[in-house]
Parts: sequence; structure tokens; C-alpha cells
Amino acid sequence: MRPIYVTRSSMPELDEYVEEIRDLWDSRVLTNSGVKYQELAGKLTEYLGVENISMFCNGHLGLEIAFEALGLTEGEVITTPFTFASTTQAIVRMGLTPVFCDVKPDNFTMDPAGIEALITEKTVAIVPVHVYGQICDWRAIEAIAKKHHLKVVYDAAHAFGVQVDGRGAGTLGDMSMFSFHATKVFHTIEGGALTYADPAYTARINAWRNFGLNASGTAEFVGGNAKMTEFSAAMGLCNLRHVDGEIAKRGKADAHYRARLDGIPGLYIPPRQANVVPNYAYFPVIFDGFRYSRDEVAEKLKEQNIFARKYFYPLTNQFDCFRGKPYYGAERTPIALSASEHVLTLPMFADLTSDEIDRICDVILK
Ligand SMILES: *Cc1c(COP(=O)(O)O)cnc(C)c1O
Repeated sequence: MRPIYVTRSSMPELDEYVEEIRDLWDSRVLTNSGVKYQELAGKLTEYLGVENISMFCNGHLGLEIAFEALGLTEGEVITTPFTFASTTQAIVRMGLTPVFCDVKPDNFTMDPAGIEALITEKTVAIVPVHVYGQICDWRAIEAIAKKHHLKVVYDAAHAFGVQVDGRGAGTLGDMSMFSFHATKVFHTIEGGALTYADPAYTARINAWRNFGLNASGTAEFVGGNAKMTEFSAAMGLCNLRHVDGEIAKRGKADAHYRARLDGIPGLYIPPRQANVVPNYAYFPVIFDGFRYSRDEVAEKLKEQNIFARKYFYPLTNQFDCFRGKPYYGAERTPIALSASEHVLTLPMFADLTSDEIDRICDVILK
């Protein structure tokens, strides 16, 4: 029996990729927003239902660029500790101070009820995360942001293709960041994007990813290098042709898991959201009051060559690099803390078979 890892990258047929990159041997344009980049940007704009997109060598730099482009270079940012390292690291690296808001107990997205108490005269933005592809309470967040004149940048790394209330997740807030990392629902090997409604940001974002250079070759500000290569864009073009099928296969896996695990005492699975077209990016299960602890279940699975992941554990406000900072510590985010101590993300990818899901559920239930 093959080992079952928590994720397995989607891949096109090798021949399809080879066909896609063939032109690059003629054009010799390998990066710097060539034809593959342009074609993928056009197709993703349509697929995600967004006004503007800029793509990068990864999602993390996209997040840093979003803060820079929005002029968020100092002050406090209200965010969530129940996320991948990237969200918090991007905030801190850009000279901003994270202020951690707790999450909702039902789906672990930022709890809007906790935001206003954290707002001070130094607050400049709210950075929520559509964690596991679950969409944040965006109307409440938007209302608070409007009232207090704050920017909203969504970490939509998990939310590729997710729609809420008939609109793409990437249309929410001032900007949204998508990750196209190999482990995500849609990928360009490494890669990422920002989506945003206001075209006024395009020039600055695109200059940033190329050292801040403008058309006349001077730099009006200090940028970096975050360009997506043509080989990544070509992988994206191939993967985009198949992504609907991949999401449908994930949906079947999700339904199978739910049929086996829903309603088992001591297990909690975040319910599907109303008005949301999901992408089934992850399958998190909370083990609380179950016969075995989360850690014991993870061990038992490992003995059977099944590798689930404690995702997200630890919380980012527990990272060693933040020791001694005023925002270090999880006491102020008890719901996030509890989730991080009880959650196990089970294997989820398009090629996961029914037999494999049964193997996983049998270990958990037996
Ligand atoms: C993957 C991920 C990122 C970072 O994306 P990269 O493309 O790997 O840089 C940021 N936030 C979250 C929540 C992620 O899961």
C-alpha cells in the first residue's frame, strides 16, 4: 500500500506540459511577463472573476507587496494567529505590528466580534485569512473597515476558485493574495497572485516585483524581485485546464470523509458554508472529547503509513521568533489555541481514492 501523504500535487500529463513550453525554446523569453504570463493572467482574471491580477514567484511576496502598494509601512494590523507562517511573517517583515484577533469556533476564520476592541489610533489594516478555503465573515469585516477607515487585505491562499454570494473570493477587500504553491488546489509549482479592483495599484505592484524599475529604467521606490517565470506560468496554463475536474474529485473525497466521520462523538468537522461554492482545499477534523487525543490519532495514522498534519500548530503568536514581543502568546486567542491543539488535517488531494479514505477512517474509528 502506498504511503498516504497529507497532500499530493496535481500534475498535467507530461506531454501536455512539454507542448506548452515548446514555444519557449523558440522565443527564448523565459521570464519578465512573457506570453505565458500574459495568457495565464488573462485566463485567471476570468476564472476568478476579478478586475485585476498581478502574479509573482510565490504568494508570500505577493502579501508583502500588497502592504507596500497600499502604503501600509507602519502601524498595527489586526490579523489571525490560526494561519500558515507566511501571513504573520509578511506583516512583521514589512515593519507592521500584528495584533491578534481570535477566531470563530465554527470555522476558525477571524471573529469580527473581536475586531473593534483591538482597534487603536495606530491600526492601519485588517488581514483576515480564508482558512481551509472557508470564507471569512466578509460583510462584517467590510463594515468595520469602512467605519474605521482601515484597509483589508485577505490572505486567500487557500481560497482558489471559491465563490461567495455569487462573487469570486478574490473580489473581497482592497486586495486578496492567492498562493499557487505546489500543494495548493491550483499551482504554478511556486507562484502566487494579488487580485484587486482598483487599477491604480497595477503600476506600483508590477514595478515592485522588478526592483521598482519603471519604463524609463529608473526606480521611483525600492522594490525587489518577485517575478513569475514562463515555466511556472506554463504549468499554470496546463493546470487551469484541469482544475474544475480536480476540484470535483476533491469534492467526492470530501463527501466520502463526511459520510464516514460526520456525527461521530468527539469529532468536529467544519460544516459547508451557505452561499459558498467550495474548493475542498483541506479536510480539517477537531478531535476534542474523542477516545484518543489528536496527537494519538496522528501517531496511529503514522504507524499505518498515513501522514496527516497538525495544521495549524503552533499558532503564529507562539513562534519562538516573537518571544519578548508584546504580541507573543496565545492567551488572548483561546479559541485559536484550542483549535491548534485539537486539529488534524487529513490527507486531501484530487487523486485520493475511496479505498484510501476508508483506510484512513478505519484507523481513526477502530
Ligand atoms: C501557502 C500559504 C501562504 C504562502 O504562499 P506561498 O505561495 O507558499 O508563498 C500564505 N498563507 C497561507 C495561509 C498559506 O497556506
